Amino acid sequence: MILYTLVAMKAAIHPVMHADAKTKCSSCGAVYLIPSTIKDQSVEICRACHPIYTGKQQKDLKGGRVERFRKRMAAGKKEK
Ligand SMILES: [Zn+2]
Repeated sequence: MILYTLVAMKAAIHPVMHADAKTKCSSCGAVYLIPSTIKDQSVEICRACHPIYTGKQQKDLKGGRVERFRKRMAAGKKEK
């Protein structure tokens, strides 16, 4: 059965697998060697710089709705 499967596979339709394909993070510049059919590729964020793995909040999240609401409330209390 296995022999039949190997014979039935078409020769030139499978993509080339690169064992040492480079995946680069465009945020922090980390390079990972992950087997892939694409030799050089990039990702926007990786495990080294994603907030959920680092535990640090992103800069743009710090000045969010909650923070603006708290500032407004603090300013309102001062006026009274
Ligand atoms: Zn990264």
